[in-house]
Amino acid sequence: MQELTAEVVVVGAGPTGLMLANELALAGVDVQVLERMHERTGLSKALNLQPRTAEVLDLRRLLPRAQDRSFATVADGHFAVIPVPYTGWDTRHPYQLGIPQAEVEAALEERLAEQGVRVRRGHELTNFSQDADGVTVIAGDLRIRAAYLVGCDGGRSSVRKALNLSFEGIEGQGHGVAADVLFKSTPPGAPTQWRSMSNMVTSGSPGKFIGVIPLAEPNLYRISFGDRLNRPPNLRAEVTAEEVRQAVTERFGPEAQIAEIRWASRFSDDSRLAEKYKVGRVLLAGDAAHTHFPAGGQGLNLGIQDAMNLGWKLAAELNNRASAALLDSYEEERRTVASQVLNNIAAQNALVPTTPNQLALRALFRDLATLPEVQHHLSGMVSGLDIRYKTEETHPAAGTRLPDFPTAQGYASTLFHKGNWVLLTKTPTPSPHTEVLVAQVPHLPWPDLQRILVRPDGYIANTTGSTKGWLT
Ligand SMILES: Cc1cc2nc3c(=O)[nH]c(=O)nc-3n(C[C@H](O)[C@H](O)[C@H](O)COP(=O)(O)OP(=O)(O)OC[C@H]3O[C@@H](n4cnc5c(N)ncnc54)[C@H](O)[C@@H]3O)c2cc1C
Repeated sequence: MQELTAEVVVVGAGPTGLMLANELALAGVDVQVLERMHERTGLSKALNLQPRTAEVLDLRRLLPRAQDRSFATVADGHFAVIPVPYTGWDTRHPYQLGIPQAEVEAALEERLAEQGVRVRRGHELTNFSQDADGVTVIAGDLRIRAAYLVGCDGGRSSVRKALNLSFEGIEGQGHGVAADVLFKSTPPGAPTQWRSMSNMVTSGSPGKFIGVIPLAEPNLYRISFGDRLNRPPNLRAEVTAEEVRQAVTERFGPEAQIAEIRWASRFSDDSRLAEKYKVGRVLLAGDAAHTHFPAGGQGLNLGIQDAMNLGWKLAAELNNRASAALLDSYEEERRTVASQVLNNIAAQNALVPTTPNQLALRALFRDLATLPEVQHHLSGMVSGLDIRYKTEETHPAAGTRLPDFPTAQGYASTLFHKGNWVLLTKTPTPSPHTEVLVAQVPHLPWPDLQRILVRPDGYIANTTGSTKGWLT
């Protein structure tokens, strides 16, 4: 048995685990990442980064890498496949970046390697136990003693199951299939570039849907189809070529010629949320903590933002800099956000019509969604731009994200590259804490404020500048 020590063991090298490991490594934490797969499959469930995720990656200089690997910039998001532009949000990234999940993972793993951390592939977590001082993690012939364990091991998380946490929510009735299909030539009427969510999804009969997204390679498309009313007896049954062919014919007619089905996978429309995100020294993040139907393109984005919320808090705890409740605030903040996402997914599911009455309701909702206020509300929800964490203060800035803005030193986002806190102040002010970088600026996005203290994840802690209640 090989014995190792670490401060944190991250289980799972999906987007959540890789983002978390990057955050921990940036803060100087000794982190080990275990991944059961010997190599990345190169396959992608998710295809997008939402505006808030783009901002979060920008805070760490990771966005250009993602942009380099992206294949589309999509002007709008969607709510129940009703396009909702991001206009009205004060963001430098009012778009979805079309990028395969595998490329997000590759970019994050590349940065992690630059920080000196290698993912231990072919290492499946098989057992763990915890005591007052730490966690003992077993992965085959490897035993690691660490202070914390974080399960980023996906929807079927063995970490969550071992903790005996309930994973409740809404039991769906239907299912979907995602398939990457190469056609012999462009199917009739198919878009050749992904620029908007308009007309991306159509519906044949009640409860059914077929979506088409052109990918990077010519004639390669993500075909998503399903039935919200019927589910096959075995959701893990392999997707047959005939199923895909039928959906393609329904969407494009018999002229569409499939050259190859690169990958196909079935998914459910269940929604589930873990009862807790932290039990002693073991935490959950990403799909291990919440799973749902991929409506609106939110799951991967939620996971990356979980990681961004947890990383600096865990690092502060390990460095003895965290106030008593800081680490617990991870669950309070992120479980609340996940619960809101699950609600918006349920609302989107309700807008897939299965009766004439619902058809009328959807038509009405589609009209309402052309109103700028409604678009703003919906796009804020699916993009993550509307997140506001609870604080003691009532000022509208408190708890919200800092919109990126130009300062004399460059954009404000550049001040966060090292994962530090930032005090933005209009008047000369000493740093309230060794972890806080002070930047004097002539203007703030809220003209009535003199200063704002911003957390390492880009959310406004307070408008006083005090680290009390956050750091010791
Ligand atoms: C069809 C489909 C389309 C989707 N489209 C979108 C989209 O467009 N936008 C979006 O934001 N989201 C989308 N999602 C959701 C998104 O794919 C997930 O939310 C995302 O993969 C979650 O990332 P994660 O890192 O938390 O988990 P995962 O990606 O599941 O990664 C978990 C990792 O842990 C590893 N692992 C598991 N168990 C162990 C163990 N015991 N030991 C070691 N390693 C282990 C796994 O091998 C895996 O690499 C989609 C999902 C589906 C099904």
